[in-house]
Amino acid sequence: MNKLALHWKILIGMILGIVFGILAVQLGWQKPVTDWIKPFGTIFINSLKLIAVPLIIASLIKGVSDLKDISKLSSMGGRTIALYLFTTVIAVSIGLLIVNIVGPGKSLTEETRTSLLEGFEGSAKAKIEAAESQKQQGPLQPLVDLVPDNIFAAASSNGNMLQVIFFVVFFGVGLILVEDQKSKPVKDFFDGLNEVILKLIDLIMLAAPYGVFALLTSLIVDTPSWDIFAALMKYSICVLVGLAFMIFGFYPTMVRLLTGTRYGTFMRGISPAQMLAFSTSSSAATLPVTMERVEEHLGVHEEVASFVLPIGATVNMDGTSLYQAVAAVFIAQAYGMDLSFNDQLNIVITATLASIGSAAVPGAGMVMLVIVLGAIGVPEAGLALIFAVDRVLDMCRTVANVTGDATVAMVVAKNVGKLGDPHVKNWDDNYHPSQS
Ligand code: ASP
Repeated sequence: MNKLALHWKILIGMILGIVFGILAVQLGWQKPVTDWIKPFGTIFINSLKLIAVPLIIASLIKGVSDLKDISKLSSMGGRTIALYLFTTVIAVSIGLLIVNIVGPGKSLTEETRTSLLEGFEGSAKAKIEAAESQKQQGPLQPLVDLVPDNIFAAASSNGNMLQVIFFVVFFGVGLILVEDQKSKPVKDFFDGLNEVILKLIDLIMLAAPYGVFALLTSLIVDTPSWDIFAALMKYSICVLVGLAFMIFGFYPTMVRLLTGTRYGTFMRGISPAQMLAFSTSSSAATLPVTMERVEEHLGVHEEVASFVLPIGATVNMDGTSLYQAVAAVFIAQAYGMDLSFNDQLNIVITATLASIGSAAVPGAGMVMLVIVLGAIGVPEAGLALIFAVDRVLDMCRTVANVTGDATVAMVVAKNVGKLGDPHVKNWDDNYHPSQS
């Protein structure tokens, strides 16, 4: 068993988790699973989240201060943002294309629509209320939210990742500007801290196969009914086909064309992070592993990975934006509404912004979907239509989100001459790739 690569072990954990979950439902073991298995899944996710803030602080400070001059930081920042926007717009467009061709909402029967709307009314209301509070803010609020007024308060919640990133980049800039003699002990400290945290991730990952088993078993046991899934099959398939295209087609091709990395190398390198994204439905919880895989298995230098990935986990959600586009049109179709070209363009813009605004936690994409619906005048209560299948789609869109982040990290690294040989583990500063 020890010889087996990690991604196989995780995959086995996932499959066994699903099989055992189905068995537990058949045998009526819901309570024992909730009492004795679910807590281990929660402990596993908590331990990943626990590492996220210290990891960002240590690795980003090290990364930024290694840059030596500030112009490099801004050129890397510019490319990162441009690529993130590009991949998101592509994802939304693909979602729109598929949902317009297939028209899944048109085939929903009146009866199913009513029963879905009634059945999930309450749950949809909670999401709509959560979105309401975000909608009432002014246009510059996201910018204001970026700057924390207290770094300890910001670092005390995983929801404030962008604020922490802001502080850390700012701190790193200060470190670059201070004379070497003074900055060296600070850098050395964060260097060491970074190493310790990477080791902790290795240790946590040893538990990953068991963690995903517990997560998936309890997820299946907690799912109320699979019947409704059938009614929403067409819609789900539209989302899944779009996501599959991104994950298995678009990203590997982009990586191949822009960095020369082979399909298999990329997929093998990133797969443990993908499986974790699937099992946890959270880009934030997956972040430590995404960083480790990209640095140690795909050749991205730490100073790029530690800058690009934490930002990506919070703002780059291609899977989420694709899903929001499909869901918005599906709901409109189910209500018998015809969307004009302008409405579709509006979806591209709002879904791009809404995905940037979605938090990297389970179900966040659905909250922000309310804003997309509002922008095109579709009744927000329509959220109830897609509630039943959201968790499964959330798991899959999180995989796309994480894969998109890794793709951009590789392309930016290649661009700035910081992409090494994917087979050389632990990119160190003595190793210099052929400059691009
Ligand atoms: N769960 C997603 C993520 O963390 C966000 C969402 O689409 O709900 O990436």
